Amino acid sequence: MKNPKDYGFNSQLIHYSGHHDQYGSATVPIYQTSTFSFESAEDGAECFAGTKDGYIYTRIGNPTIKALERQIAVLEHGYDAVAVSSGMAAVSTVYMALLNAGDHMISSAAVYGPSRVVMEQHFSRFGVQSSYVNTADIENIKKEIRPNTKVIYIETPANPTMDITDIKACAEIAHSIGAVLVVDNTFCSPYLQSPIDLGADVVLHSITKFINGHADIVGGVIIGKDKQIYDKLRTMMVNMGCNMDPHQAYLVIRGLKTLGIRIDRAQENAMKVAEFLENHPKIEWIKYPGLKSFAQKDLVRKQMRGPGTMISFGVKGGLDAGRTLMNNVEMLILAVSLGGIESLIQHPASMTHSKMSKDSREKAGIGEGLVRLSIGIENVDDIIRDLSRALDKI
Ligand SMILES: *Cc1c(COP(=O)(O)O)cnc(C)c1O
Repeated sequence: MKNPKDYGFNSQLIHYSGHHDQYGSATVPIYQTSTFSFESAEDGAECFAGTKDGYIYTRIGNPTIKALERQIAVLEHGYDAVAVSSGMAAVSTVYMALLNAGDHMISSAAVYGPSRVVMEQHFSRFGVQSSYVNTADIENIKKEIRPNTKVIYIETPANPTMDITDIKACAEIAHSIGAVLVVDNTFCSPYLQSPIDLGADVVLHSITKFINGHADIVGGVIIGKDKQIYDKLRTMMVNMGCNMDPHQAYLVIRGLKTLGIRIDRAQENAMKVAEFLENHPKIEWIKYPGLKSFAQKDLVRKQMRGPGTMISFGVKGGLDAGRTLMNNVEMLILAVSLGGIESLIQHPASMTHSKMSKDSREKAGIGEGLVRLSIGIENVDDIIRDLSRALDKI
């Protein structure tokens, strides 16, 4: 594939890694090495000076990891990407690279729990200020702007409230004040949403979720819109030492090939599950971007290519009823994480978002009775039957 831009998304997934070797291997081999030998002292000096392309040491770069980075950069329409050891490593690297002491960040209140914890409990120790607001209403962002606001950081759809934030509007605000827009695109993957096309400067993912999709590794990636911001991110990753491992990269390259068909199937299933839940007498409310009842469906249509596979809902009877539901599913896995081929059920208030204060949770719209589903690619009748039987136990 000479120019991946001439091909569709699924073809890019299967055929574009940018990797070529002397054996013509059809897949990217695992370069399980920590270091690379130089041809001569002069060659080594040139690699270090950057006047010659060449691998030096795996924390700095590795051919297996580079193949994954190139592929994700193409899928996200970015300049290049930096693969890291986890989604949280991606978040921390972005904060470290883009914020100095005395700078201020505005973020979505309902971000992934630890993304907020690391900012409020740790980056605050180094003098970084932050405000958490419901970014689904753009006015809330405008009200928080300070002279030192340097980063706007959003997650859309938000986890686990499913609130949608207008990426294009955020990019316009950020650029009007000389700030950078960062989008955590984990919930959509590049298959459903392209934040860089809408004006984002940096996109990040927990690769653990949709991109890998098989619940067998933890990883992350950061994509820079242009060379300048990419270089900042790569330098920070190399110096912090949160690189991905070559074997981990190989598994992600393998999982990534089916991203499109996995999401197509899981999304079809999610729509049917959401319709089933919406009509169930024991459900109090439900949020799924594919439902006609979803308040922000126009924005979904504007910036997403599909509603995704995540469903949030409340059971009548609050936490106790939710607990009964979770303890009575048979096939669904009671586990955190999302975006895999297997359907998962979890309770954010006692699990993923338990480290946030109850007050912050309530302000972020994460009630005690909220149950989150990540729908997989099983037979949808089995998913519905499992939920139906467990709901009957309430
Ligand atoms: C899981 C997740 C993260 C953190 O990723 P890890 O791979 O678990 O470190 C960040 N953002 C979102 C939206 C996530 O779902």
